[in-house]
Amino acid sequence: MARLLTRFGEIALKGKNRRYFENALTSNIKKALRGLSGCRVEQTRSRNFVEVPDKLLDDAITRLSRVFGIVSISPVVEAELDMDSIMDVALREFSKIARAGLTFKVQTKRANKRFPLASPLMSAEVGAHLLTNLPSLTVDVHEPDLLLEVEIREHEAYIFTQKIPGPGGLPVGVTGKGLLLLSGGIDSPVAGWMAMKRGVKLEALYFHSFPFTSERAEEKVVDLCRVLAAYNGATRLHVSHFTEIQKELRQKCPDKLQVTLMRRMMLRIAARLAAERGAQAIFTGESLGQVASQTMESISVIGRVTDLPILRPVIGMDKAEIVEISRRIDTYPISIRPYEDCCTVFLPEFPVTRPRLAEVEAAEAALDIEALVDSGSGPNIRTFEIRGQI
Ligand code: ATP
Ligand code: MG
Repeated sequence: MARLLTRFGEIALKGKNRRYFENALTSNIKKALRGLSGCRVEQTRSRNFVEVPDKLLDDAITRLSRVFGIVSISPVVEAELDMDSIMDVALREFSKIARAGLTFKVQTKRANKRFPLASPLMSAEVGAHLLTNLPSLTVDVHEPDLLLEVEIREHEAYIFTQKIPGPGGLPVGVTGKGLLLLSGGIDSPVAGWMAMKRGVKLEALYFHSFPFTSERAEEKVVDLCRVLAAYNGATRLHVSHFTEIQKELRQKCPDKLQVTLMRRMMLRIAARLAAERGAQAIFTGESLGQVASQTMESISVIGRVTDLPILRPVIGMDKAEIVEISRRIDTYPISIRPYEDCCTVFLPEFPVTRPRLAEVEAAEAALDIEALVDSGSGPNIRTFEIRGQI
C-alpha cells in the first residue's frame, strides 16, 4: 500500500463553514477515486490521507490532481513513532533524491503534541542525521533545493519529499449549481473549468442545429464535456434542438441582428432549463471584445431576457491566456477540431456590434417567442449523463 497526503488551501480560511468545505472535499476525493479498488480516504485537520494499492498510485495522483480544493499532493512514507525509525526512513527516502552539492532543510509538523520532542528539535536531529550520512549535502533553511517533511501523527510518523501541485480552488458543489453554455469552441470549456474551480457544480447546455451543424459537432461537445467531468464529476449535458429557431430567425429577422437574436433565444432556453434544474446562474465563455457579439452593448441587450445572473469567467482574459488554460486542462485539442458551430454557419457578413434594444425588440415582434422557446426546451432537449470521476 502507498499513502498520499493531500492538502487544502483556501478552505482552511473558511471559518464557520470550514467543516462543510472539508466534508465536501473528502466526499469529492472519494468520488474521484471511485473504481480504483482498495483506496481508503481519511480526513484530518486541513489534510486528507489516502491509502492506495501501489499499482494504482499514478492513476490516483492523476485523479486527485483534478479535485478542486486540493493544493498539493505528497506521496508519504510511514515510520514508527520513535526517533530511530524516523531517522532511518528519512535517510532512506532522502538517499533516493539527494545529489552532491544540493542544499536541504527538514521541517516537522507535530499533529500529536504528546510526542516528546518539539518540532524544531526534531528537525534539527533528523537534519544532523542526514548530514552525517550524506556529507555532500549542506543545509539551507531559507531556499533549500530539497525539503524533507516529517509529520508526527497519533500512531505513526509520515515522511515526504515531494509536492505535486493540485488545482487549488474550492470543492465542486460548495458554491452551488450553474448551467454552462457549452459550445465546441475554446472559450466555454475554460469558462466552465473556472466556474468549477470556484466550487460550482455544472450542468452543460449545447444548442445543436442539425442538419446545419453535423453530428460531429455534437460529438465534439460530448468529448469536451467528458474532459470537464473529470473535474466536475458526473455531468448532465443537455442538447437543445435549435434548428427551428435558426430557420425562423433567418426567415423573419434582419441579417445583421441574427447573432444577437440567436443569443437571446439561447439565454431564454437556458433560463428555463436553469429553473427546472435548480441552477442559480448561467455561465458563458464570452470575453469582452473578442467578437461582434461581445461588446458591452451587445452583452447588455442579450442579457435583458433573463433575471438570472449571467457569469462570464473569462471576460477579462486575452485569447492567449484562455488558450493556455485550455491546453493545460486538455480541452484544446478537442476545441480545435474543425467542425462548424451554429453561430459560424449563420454568421452574417456584417453583424451589428452595438445593437439597440428597441431595434432588437422590434425584430422579435415578428416571432412567436414562446413557441420558439418551447421548440428548444422540455422534450426537445436530449440529456446525456456523462460519467465523471467525481
Ligand atoms: P466559444 O469558444 O466558447 O465557442 P466564442 O469565442 O466562439 O466562444 P461566441 O461564439 O460568441 O464566442 O459564443 C459566446 C458564448 O456563447 C460561448 O462561449 C458559449 O458560452 C455560448 N455559445 C455559443 N454557441 C453555443 C452553442 N451552440 N451552444 C451552447 N452555447 C453556445
Ligand atoms: Mg463559439
